[in-house]
Amino acid sequence: MQNRKIAVVGAGPAGMIAAIKAAQLSQEVTLIDKNPSLGKKLLLSGKGRCNLTNTCDLDSFLKRFSRNGEFLRDAFKKFFNQDLINFFETRGLSLKTERQLRVFPVTDSSSSIVSVLEQELIKQNVKIMRKTKVKDILIKENQLKGLYLEAGEFLPFDKIILATGGASYSFTGSTGEGLSLAKRAGHKVIPLRPGLVPLVTEEKYAQDLEGLTLKNIRLKFYAGKNEIISEVGELLFTGFGISGPLVLSLSGKIVDWLNNKKEVYLEIDLKPGLTREQLDSRFLREFKANAKKGIKHILKNILPLRLINLFIELAKIQPHKKANQITLNERQALVSLLKGWRLNIAGSLPLEEGMITRGGISLKEINPRTMESRLVKGLYFCGEMIDVDADTGGFNLQAAFSTGYLAGESAAVN
Ligand SMILES: Cc1cc2nc3c(=O)[nH]c(=O)nc-3n(C[C@H](O)[C@H](O)[C@H](O)COP(=O)(O)OP(=O)(O)OC[C@H]3O[C@@H](n4cnc5c(N)ncnc54)[C@H](O)[C@@H]3O)c2cc1C
Repeated sequence: MQNRKIAVVGAGPAGMIAAIKAAQLSQEVTLIDKNPSLGKKLLLSGKGRCNLTNTCDLDSFLKRFSRNGEFLRDAFKKFFNQDLINFFETRGLSLKTERQLRVFPVTDSSSSIVSVLEQELIKQNVKIMRKTKVKDILIKENQLKGLYLEAGEFLPFDKIILATGGASYSFTGSTGEGLSLAKRAGHKVIPLRPGLVPLVTEEKYAQDLEGLTLKNIRLKFYAGKNEIISEVGELLFTGFGISGPLVLSLSGKIVDWLNNKKEVYLEIDLKPGLTREQLDSRFLREFKANAKKGIKHILKNILPLRLINLFIELAKIQPHKKANQITLNERQALVSLLKGWRLNIAGSLPLEEGMITRGGISLKEINPRTMESRLVKGLYFCGEMIDVDADTGGFNLQAAFSTGYLAGESAAVN
């Protein structure tokens, strides 16, 4: 095999595995990151526990990507979930599979994942340049020449793998600079949007409910007049609106609908096990049994404490009223609220707050069998900077590892 100098820019999961793979294939590899330490975002992943992959089968896996999952089929065929699990386990780190087939290290600490990768980089003699920012790529007459560092230095390379991540949680180093480098090299970047991001409600009162989690409720999201999803799950109120697993999963689509000027709202059914009629009968029973008690007292049996004052206000009931003073209209207003509490979605938190960046380098200009640019020979892309994104559950990290592995191998071999 011809000896080549390969640069990998970005020491996240994609860049680290790319460097390891290329170095295993006897190439001279330099891994460059502007941070003093490796895998800064990886350390945050899975709330510090790192949900590194998912053991579902390939077709189910691909379905968890928001649009472009099919693009990853080749990368997954080359290096998939079991390969990733073997990679860590053969290096002494045991993994475990939790609910919904999510895989974590038994240590419950993402630092053990970073540590295995770092040790392997050292073992494979990868040259690691920390605190080193790449400023530009030099391409002359369509020939890749090397990299310019921020400090002004030029480093010649035969191949360059860009693995600079998305553009959220920028304190981790993922600031979108790599996308600017790709743009300057002639690549199209699909507009960036936040994914897996909390939503903001129009109703400001949602902020007063910060910290409240509602479980086993039915959440129905509507875009315009169409009900687009109806699922039983949980909802978390935050300082600006709503979050929770289902909200995060749907947030990418919701951001797109809002961008397309669709009205999006959520209807919450707090009593999915009861019909309207059954709930009404329940109220009647409670009102009869506690005729002289205040409405606030009665609602304690039916609603979380923190919702009581709000619901009394939304149902336009005088808070001091007793059960036997509640009118039919007021009772029906309560039933309607409990079965279909509407929250209008105003938007999402900004890109910076998204767990994942949607958009990125257009896939049309990347060869899925090699991850090489179709425009500049010798330039490769991998990880979150390309236009793929997935749900929570370990799918995004597996995509980063698989595309990184493929890019590393292709850069070394082709
Ligand atoms: C809070 C949080 C939790 C998450 N949890 C999970 C999870 O449990 N499971 C999962 O599958 N996914 C998770 N993700 C998503 C996952 O972490 C990312 O998709 C993944 O880290 C992307 O890997 P990457 O290698 O492409 O980029 P990154 O990990 O973002 O790494 C990019 C690297 O490039 C470097 N860089 C950028 N520009 C330059 C430059 N000009 N010069 C030099 N270096 C540069 C940066 O410093 C950075 O180190 C989570 C994300 C967040 C924010």
